[in-house]
Amino acid sequence: MTNKTDVAIIGAGPVGLFAIFQAGMLKMKATIIDTLDFIGGQCTALYPEKPIYDIPAYPKIFASELIENLRKQAEPFDPNYILGEQVVKVTKTREGFDLVTNKGTQINAKAIIIAAGCGAFGPNRPPIENLAEFEDKGSVQYLVRKSADYKDKHVVIAGGGDSAVDWAIILADIAKSVSVVHRRSKFRCAPDNADKLKSLSEQGKVNLVIPYQLHKLHGDNGSLKQVEVIDLDGNTKLLEADVLLPFFGLSMELGPIANWEMELQKNHLLVDQKTLKTSIDGIYAIGDVAHYPGKLKLILNGFGEAAMACHDIYNIIYPDTPLHFEYSTTKGVSS
Ligand SMILES: Cc1cc2nc3c(=O)[nH]c(=O)nc-3n(C[C@H](O)[C@H](O)[C@H](O)COP(=O)(O)OP(=O)(O)OC[C@H]3O[C@@H](n4cnc5c(N)ncnc54)[C@H](O)[C@@H]3O)c2cc1C
Repeated sequence: MTNKTDVAIIGAGPVGLFAIFQAGMLKMKATIIDTLDFIGGQCTALYPEKPIYDIPAYPKIFASELIENLRKQAEPFDPNYILGEQVVKVTKTREGFDLVTNKGTQINAKAIIIAAGCGAFGPNRPPIENLAEFEDKGSVQYLVRKSADYKDKHVVIAGGGDSAVDWAIILADIAKSVSVVHRRSKFRCAPDNADKLKSLSEQGKVNLVIPYQLHKLHGDNGSLKQVEVIDLDGNTKLLEADVLLPFFGLSMELGPIANWEMELQKNHLLVDQKTLKTSIDGIYAIGDVAHYPGKLKLILNGFGEAAMACHDIYNIIYPDTPLHFEYSTTKGVSS
């Protein structure tokens, strides 16, 4: 089945979600596609329970709450969500563009907004032999959705950066035990958090396993029982574990978008700062994926870029009706 739409938005992160609203306010229908099977991009995948402090008019808002608000704000415009599918191909047609996903879904759009963030992101996996077996059963997880899921569990965290330390601090009060495995004695995290971690270790709430690295996983049928760690001299230790959380960063790749013949700069799409248009007419890029001089990768900038791109796209969708600029206070919200 082909989905027909005015604007196809690639990427349902915070910026793509706000683009649905902006398009809707200008009477343009949106279809939004995301590789992940949930909306929210980095906010949902990487830090749903963290507070964000620089969203205008919200002194503090949790990332998951921001995404829920954006979903609600877009709701009146009845967007078409296609989740769990990656856009792999874009072809120019006489009327606009044909997009095809990895699952064969086709979308026919008059304009495209690419809000693909850092592209397809996935975790850097530790090189452990039988890792896949434990990943399949959920004993090895690369992101924490809900800290409450770890109540009464023995948790082993691996890594020495912000994510490893943040989650060790949060889970110290929730999990049955928290061990942090790091190959150096120094952590690469905010100094305050390094102090908190040290203090939790002194109180016996976190077990610091340093300098060690992951070696083997032990368990039955993918259900984890112990994590074996090793130091540089080959000494090994066994840590009791129900779940392993390796935080070794993310690999970020633009993926298929890099082959769509738009001008790139260091894996980002170069856009015209006035319109957010890429080097291909009718294709726009906003949010983290877009680059121009002075670009700041912040959600608040992405929101402004969504508004600017949609105002320019209006001329493609309604070439014979000049845009009469109106505030939302005058216009109200109706689809
Ligand atoms: C730990 C952490 C804390 C942060 N704190 C803040 C903060 O306090 N304030 C702030 O402003 N920013 C913060 N950021 C940055 C902020 O999250 C990003 O700027 C923001 O998520 C960018 O939004 P986006 O919509 O452009 O892209 P993303 O959120 O990256 O979403 C892009 C989406 O596009 C999808 N996608 C990519 N390619 C395709 C394709 N071919 N087909 C279909 N889907 C595709 C991806 O799956 C992804 O879901 C933080 C980031 C992290 C990691």
